[in-house]
Amino acid sequence: MTDHSTLIDAIPTELWIGGKQVPSSTGARFSVHNPATGAVLTTVADAAPADGATALDEAFGVQQSWAATAPRERAEILRRAWELVMARRDDFALAMTLEMGKPLAESQGEVAYGGEFLRWFAEEAVRINGRYTSSPTGTGRILVTKQPIGPTLAITPWNFPLAMGTRKIGPALAAGCTMIVKPAAETPLTMLLLGQVFADAGLPAGVLSILPTTSASALTGPLIDDARLRKLTFTGSTGVGKILLSQCATRVLRSSMELGGNAPFVVFDDADVDAAVDGAMAAKMRNIGEACTAANRFHVDNAVRAEFTEKLTARMSALTIGPGDESGVQVGPLITAKQRASVDELVQDAVSKGAVLTTGGAIADGEGYFYPPTVLTDVPTDARILREEVFGPVAAITGFDGEEAGIAAANDTEFGLAAYIYTANLDRALRVSESVESGMVGVNRGVISDVAAPFGGIKESGIGREAGSEGIEEYLETKYIALP
Ligand code: ADP
Repeated sequence: MTDHSTLIDAIPTELWIGGKQVPSSTGARFSVHNPATGAVLTTVADAAPADGATALDEAFGVQQSWAATAPRERAEILRRAWELVMARRDDFALAMTLEMGKPLAESQGEVAYGGEFLRWFAEEAVRINGRYTSSPTGTGRILVTKQPIGPTLAITPWNFPLAMGTRKIGPALAAGCTMIVKPAAETPLTMLLLGQVFADAGLPAGVLSILPTTSASALTGPLIDDARLRKLTFTGSTGVGKILLSQCATRVLRSSMELGGNAPFVVFDDADVDAAVDGAMAAKMRNIGEACTAANRFHVDNAVRAEFTEKLTARMSALTIGPGDESGVQVGPLITAKQRASVDELVQDAVSKGAVLTTGGAIADGEGYFYPPTVLTDVPTDARILREEVFGPVAAITGFDGEEAGIAAANDTEFGLAAYIYTANLDRALRVSESVESGMVGVNRGVISDVAAPFGGIKESGIGREAGSEGIEEYLETKYIALP
């Protein structure tokens, strides 16, 4: 493996509090691993509850002055941060590949996508509008204004180490909120690098803190319970989201939840099968399948199922697997051995219930947490993989007959984040899009995330929206002022 010590040595590895690096109050540190080898990349400070308290003191201390900072100035800081991320794009991409595993080309894509939230919300910061109207009775005037919520806490996952942070930090700072970020313990380096970028961009000390920790709930529990914290924004699993929501309930703490998905990819009998296979590759394999928007279940009309399965199998089996920092690699390792075991468990469950494996399906020997691109067809309805998010490079195909059955299959889940449909018929595309129970629908497209579009789910996939013009609303309170 290439020696990346120059980059690793340049990444701050202490906690980021009060605009500077500080060690953990306990002195504890933890290791960050490269999932392609299992080797330790470096160690970072392990935040304790006392460090959370310090960060909240800082956030609370500067909240008023940050909220009072001119929107244009907040915007310029965000804009500079975007420019600095772009200037250091190679460092960000490599850091992500090393700690998370995705191929470098995908990491470069995430730097562009994740950085863009800083530029987008720089533009939104100066467009926070209220309204002025009169009462229908004619006896009063109504002034509606938006104010920043106050200090916020963001808890982010490991799958998009930059973008899941910036999609929260961008709108929070634009709205005038301070923020404490707790990145996933698997991937703290990208966020720590971003802390440095914000300092270089001129962000006042205390507005943003970054607290990697191995004791997530011990750190975040007291913060959620503290009356000075005004909002929690979380991206992660539905199980953890439910725990956090119940903690928020005790204080009626405002919260946004981007939770798990179980995205259906529905191919109708009139679809362009080659285009559907292209879309399936993107919807399934982006981020090694470790995305909450990843296509989890492929429902294919029986009229085209054999052709789709054959072509998808050919494409999946031709992919190059290896460490993400090696050129030509298309599929990196999964994040941990545990994650790989859970992917394999779902595959073996489906096979034991009668699914047919057309490629992949077995853990390879050797170092790193690799899992081969896998296609299953004839997946029976009782297979766990149709119910649970696989979070890996596995496509599970089942057949259906006719439009209504396709819609019913798509909606047979408690989740509702993304859905993908392939059809050549515009009427059908609109009909199905309106009937599918999900926050986002891709029509003849395998990648749907867009900085300008509202990202989020319904049902057990979450509450609230990120990005788009909706994203900043999550960090604003609406105030009505009654005037004579
Ligand atoms: P994933 O399965 O993607 O790892 P998780 O929901 O387990 O998703 O983790 C997402 C984020 O939530 C991570 O930053 C993790 O450390 C954090 N987390 C996990 N459990 C808790 C908890 N009980 N309280 C607060 N944060 C948690």
